[in-house]
Amino acid sequence: MTPGIRPLIAGNWKMNGTIREAIALAESIGANAPRGEADPDLVVFPPFPHLHAVGSTLMGHGVAMGAQDCHAEPKGAHTGDVSAPMLRDIGCAYVLVGHSERRLNHHESDADVRDKAAAAIMAGVVPVICVGETMAQKAAGQSESVIQRQLQNSMPDRFSTARGVVAYEPDWAIGTGRTPSEEDITTIHALLRRLAPAGTRLLYGGSVKAGNAPVILALPNVDGVLVGGASLAAAEFLAIAAAA
Ligand code: PGA
Repeated sequence: MTPGIRPLIAGNWKMNGTIREAIALAESIGANAPRGEADPDLVVFPPFPHLHAVGSTLMGHGVAMGAQDCHAEPKGAHTGDVSAPMLRDIGCAYVLVGHSERRLNHHESDADVRDKAAAAIMAGVVPVICVGETMAQKAAGQSESVIQRQLQNSMPDRFSTARGVVAYEPDWAIGTGRTPSEEDITTIHALLRRLAPAGTRLLYGGSVKAGNAPVILALPNVDGVLVGGASLAAAEFLAIAAAA
């Protein structure tokens, strides 16, 4: 945690669930979300087709909604893409940009991520810029240099004014049950703190569960977590939030 920064607990639902299941999950998170002054902010990232239903379900429950990606242009001839103003229009407060599954599977470059983050800010949507090294890069001792390059090249000019979020997600920790050591998370988050504008919320992501969340959330400069698999069960997600 960082003094003066309110924690953010984020649930990345990825490409999972029917609309009915998404509504049920949102209902149980919304009904049981902690809402005290000292409680963390909560946000869920449903798939695009579920945004409308989830947004309606969460209305008035104090849980924010985000999308998993956006296009860098506000509109135009981009078949299959979704713009940041559309996300704002449907009620998204946040958008993930540069998740490793986008960087690796869709070949998104740092420049692509920066342009998407800029588009989000322009539309009034808070970008969550994801960075992280591969196992090969870690094994080669390149974690810090890779992450420094990714973050510096992925932050748009106006990031400092956007109350932006940065998530450290080593791709080898995503969905694998493996996490970096406490020392490694501490080192990377200290680097992110030096590189990101003051007040940026720094999340850790990759195999976060209710069991390891208390230890991870207690590390310096870890202001929250980005949770994938474990965010698909309301009780587990809320248990992670309770650890913040
Ligand atoms: P995981 O995914 O929690 O299932 O490892 C995290 C993420 O990709 O955001």
